[in-house]
Amino acid sequence: AGRRLPLPEAQDELRSLAGALNDLLARRDEAADRLRRFTGDAAHELRSPVASIRVQAEVAVAHPDPELSQEVLTEVVRESERLSALVDGLLTLARSDAGELPPAEPVDLSVAAVDAAARCSGDGPAVQVHVPPGPCWVLAAPSEVDLVLDNLLRNAFRHARASVTVTVLAGVTSARIVVDDDGHGIAPEHRARVFDRFYRVQDDRARSSGGTGLGLALVAEVVRRRGGAVRVGESPEGGARFLVSWRAIARPQ
Ligand code: ADP
Repeated sequence: AGRRLPLPEAQDELRSLAGALNDLLARRDEAADRLRRFTGDAAHELRSPVASIRVQAEVAVAHPDPELSQEVLTEVVRESERLSALVDGLLTLARSDAGELPPAEPVDLSVAAVDAAARCSGDGPAVQVHVPPGPCWVLAAPSEVDLVLDNLLRNAFRHARASVTVTVLAGVTSARIVVDDDGHGIAPEHRARVFDRFYRVQDDRARSSGGTGLGLALVAEVVRRRGGAVRVGESPEGGARFLVSWRAIARPQ
């Protein structure tokens, strides 16, 4: 006869096998729930700019008045831009969910931060950039670093009263980017959720300023898949502080 497990031992093994199987099923159900929610939310978010573009276009067709058309077309352009941003964000998230990573190379955070500040600042709040004396290398795709900086800086400029500060800190094992603003900040009860897809603290405000609710979700996704971390807190000026840490790498050859 083949080797048999004594009954009490067999029961233990079966119980742990059943436990492992149940965990697996629960995880699969959670993933399916997340996917369902995400698809529903995405459809809901896409619907609003599409509906708005349609209504505006119908108004323009029904009332061929040049002054009104100008106003309506401006709104159509704005909503189309939001739609494009949403679709781009969804595509980036879908690629990331599918495990597609753009090729990584050494990126100097200091150079990227200075460039992003120049790109994102306008006539509004002033920006200060503090970078370490030497370069600050991390391993990532340049497009990922730009996505992180652009989203954090655009949010900071959108919410700041008068000033935005970007600081790059080079450590031995980690390289950090800190983005501070002097706006109204993010209340502690919202902090854990601002990185969720489509989560907004103030709905109307974010929508009317062209926000998609995907910016911080993209930032968190990009940073985590490169082994980094992102946190939100309060800046010394009372506004929001976003802190991103990456794994530092030695100077590339
Ligand atoms: P959105 O594109 O709608 O701004 P995000 O994912 O970038 O979406 O941000 C999520 C929410 O976090 C926003 O609705 C906004 O209310 C809040 N938020 C983000 N950055 C800041 C900031 N610097 N100051 C205050 N609130 C912020």
